[in-house]
Amino acid sequence: EIKEAGWRFDNSYKKLPEIFYSMTDPTPVKQPEMVIFNVDYGKELGLDVEALQSQNGAAMLAGNKIPEGAIPIAQAYAGHQFGHFTMLGDGRAVLLGEHITLSGHRFDIQLKGSGRTPYSRGGDGRAALGPMLREYVISEAMYGLGVPTTRSLAVVSTGEPVYRESPLPGAVLTRVAASHIRVGTFQFAAKWAKLEGLKALADYTWERHFKNAEAEDNRYLSLLREVTSRQARLIAKWQLIGFIHGVMNTDNMAVSGETIDYGPCAFMDAYDPATVFSSIDAQGRYAYGNQPAIAQWNLTRFAETLLPLISNEQEKAKKQAMDVLEGFGPKFRSEWLSGMRSKLGLIGEETEDELLIGDLLSMMKENKADFTNTFRALTLEQFEALSMNSISVFEEWKKRWKKRQEHNQGTQKKQQDLMKKSNPAVIPRNHRVEEALSAASESGDLEVLKGLMDVLKDPFAYSPAQEEYAEVPNLSGCKYQTFCGT
Ligand code: AMP
Ligand code: MG
Ligand code: MG
Repeated sequence: EIKEAGWRFDNSYKKLPEIFYSMTDPTPVKQPEMVIFNVDYGKELGLDVEALQSQNGAAMLAGNKIPEGAIPIAQAYAGHQFGHFTMLGDGRAVLLGEHITLSGHRFDIQLKGSGRTPYSRGGDGRAALGPMLREYVISEAMYGLGVPTTRSLAVVSTGEPVYRESPLPGAVLTRVAASHIRVGTFQFAAKWAKLEGLKALADYTWERHFKNAEAEDNRYLSLLREVTSRQARLIAKWQLIGFIHGVMNTDNMAVSGETIDYGPCAFMDAYDPATVFSSIDAQGRYAYGNQPAIAQWNLTRFAETLLPLISNEQEKAKKQAMDVLEGFGPKFRSEWLSGMRSKLGLIGEETEDELLIGDLLSMMKENKADFTNTFRALTLEQFEALSMNSISVFEEWKKRWKKRQEHNQGTQKKQQDLMKKSNPAVIPRNHRVEEALSAASESGDLEVLKGLMDVLKDPFAYSPAQEEYAEVPNLSGCKYQTFCGT
């Protein structure tokens, strides 16, 4: 049955024990106005994009009007934030329900910035326009880059200020996700729900995300294996495009394997594993090069929550879980290596590939070479665009690379196509994102943002329009920082 604006809501999460959520309506806002609406994605979801772009649609996506069939809830979760365990939950978001597309796919529809909930602690439950647009742009860019991610359907301004260091325009983001079940949701269950509650969550998660996966006798071990393998794949994709999440707390890790919670994230310019952008990550816990290890740390916290379901015998459960967790490293490594081979146009596998890749990365680090543009220049064979201090060292590496490519089965064309598919011509450059956000939130000009989103739609197009967006910022000594004060 199709409801107003094309919504077809189901509310399966509400069938979990009550401890997992609180019935919470969004708090109406003064003056909802559509800032940006994702027409293509709305259509893909089977929504009535005309209706949603009307005043009535803006009211819906601001939380002023609850669409028929939606039952808003705030979800409970906990999490390790920078290593410290805390009770959290949706403090400024509500889940309207799950929209079921005509082809039967289930998506969480969440309003973020929708007002206070029982989990708000000291917070105002609100979000500022800049950060919500930032999540919109970067999540959609990640989708274009082929990385599993939550999506963004709309940003609506509220006509109300939110008070941060200074008053800022408020906004609500409509986030669409495979689900919002986090590692932190399991941590919440393990600590505060009874064993049946934990089991209900694990069974629900299995049914929702993994029911087509190969299950072994022990379903909970299978769950751990599947979540581990999706995370290994996800983090490999991040590394291959230079994405730094910035706040990989366990509550910001979705068990579905999608990237979630775009806060202080950013793309690396100059290649350096120690790169950190977030102003609150002084220790570099979530630095680029640490992301795989942190993912494994988070997965270990996930595994701990499952132990009582894996076996009554705790030692046995631990041993079995450890064996699964140990699969993360090799799985990540093989995903990463295969991705790096593609980035260099290497077809097939040869033992010296790792050394060839490693030597390039060392050279890049030493020369502070731009991550994206180095691979872009190699793809286009614009070697003069690479500014390496030592030409002879580079020439020697290039000779080895070319020689290795001669072993490729297949044509030169096939090799270049592989590189073009694997190396984006553009990424959401930090200075470009900031420029677009300032224009939008300071002067209401959305053209800059739309231009940026246009070239990010297909980052592998290598179109002439993308060329100016590939330019690196000229930040003489000024370090880019992202902030959490959202
Ligand atoms: P984050 O750092 O965005 O992952 O959020 C961590 C926790 O803080 C989550 O439980 C959020 O819901 C909560 N939170 C963040 N901002 C606010 C806010 N303005 N009001 C209430 N809760 C918030
Ligand atoms: Mg409740
Ligand atoms: Mg979060």
